[in-house]
Amino acid sequence: MRRNRLLVATALFSAALALTACTGISAEAPTSAASTPSPASSSSSPSPAASTETSRTTAAAPVVPAPEDRVAPTCVPGVTLIEQNQGPYYTQGAPERTDITDTAPGTALLLTGYVLDDQCNPVAGATLDFWQADGNGSYDNNGYVLRGVQTTDENGTYALTTVIPGQYPGRTEHVHVKVTAPNGPTYTTQLYFPESNANGGDRFYVPELDVTITSYDGSKMTAHFDMVLPA
Ligand code: FE
Repeated sequence: MRRNRLLVATALFSAALALTACTGISAEAPTSAASTPSPASSSSSPSPAASTETSRTTAAAPVVPAPEDRVAPTCVPGVTLIEQNQGPYYTQGAPERTDITDTAPGTALLLTGYVLDDQCNPVAGATLDFWQADGNGSYDNNGYVLRGVQTTDENGTYALTTVIPGQYPGRTEHVHVKVTAPNGPTYTTQLYFPESNANGGDRFYVPELDVTITSYDGSKMTAHFDMVLPA
């Protein structure tokens, strides 16, 4: 039953993306100079397509998902997070918060999950620094819209209230994150959405970093992704 629900939610999301592409409302081409993604600093690569966003190696009280949206941890001992390059749009100093939406346009997204060690034990006190484009594929490179840092609770859980990111040239929908265990190194990665029509055209996309869509009704999505840290 639950698997059927997930398949339906994923299919709905895929259909919505296909409809967006057909109606030309795609966010692949931001319409104003102000909203066009640009490097956060002069040391950043000028283009996501030109950057090297890949390599191998993933505060306030979290929002608690409704019981039907809770997902048990998914973890295989020793199978750890795939790291990817941070890309050109990271900004240090994001505020501590679990809701990073502000006034950003886009469809509501609640992303939840666990941070686990390589033996699948919860990692409490891990920090997660999220950043992403808005629903139109634009980053806020002057402020902190759609940027925020949060800390896992005693169960290793996190919950991010945000919007479904839009596509931008060369990139499918994705959420960036840096995750750091207490006194541990920082792992950087990007999370993707299964069956997006742009996944195949994004050279950084890997299915292992797909979130699991647990519900989607066209106006709100809930999704899940666990981050298993290397030893
Ligand atoms: Fe990006």
